[in-house]
Amino acid sequence: MAMHHGGCHCGAVRWQADTGVDKGLVCNCSICTKRGSILHFVPDTSFTLESGADRLTEYRFNKHAIAHLFCDTCGILSFARGTAPDGTKMVALNLRCVDGIDLKAIEVTEYDGASV
Ligand SMILES: [Zn+2]
Repeated sequence: MAMHHGGCHCGAVRWQADTGVDKGLVCNCSICTKRGSILHFVPDTSFTLESGADRLTEYRFNKHAIAHLFCDTCGILSFARGTAPDGTKMVALNLRCVDGIDLKAIEVTEYDGASV
C-alpha cells in the first residue's frame, strides 16, 4: 500500500488513494471498450477526492449501479463509484490517470463485463 495521486487531464479533478497499483482490470463491456480504462478497485475509505467535486458529471447506464464520473471540462474519467456485493462502497480508479505510473508494469487481468 502507498499513497497514489491522480486526476483528470485539465487538473480540476484531483484525488489520492491508499492502495497498491500493480494490478489492473480491463473490461470488455460497452463503456470500457470505448473508454480504454484500466480499472483498480479500492474501498471508499481509502479514497479522498481533493478537488473537483463540483466539476464531475455523473453518467449511469444499464443497471445504473455504477456512477461513472467524468470532468466537465476535459472529459476524462479518472474514477467511478459503486457498491460491492457485500455492500461496501467502492471506488474504481482508472489507473491511466494515476500520476507517474508505469502502465507496462501493471499486471492486467481481462474481465468479461459484457457477459454480466
Ligand atoms: Zn478535467
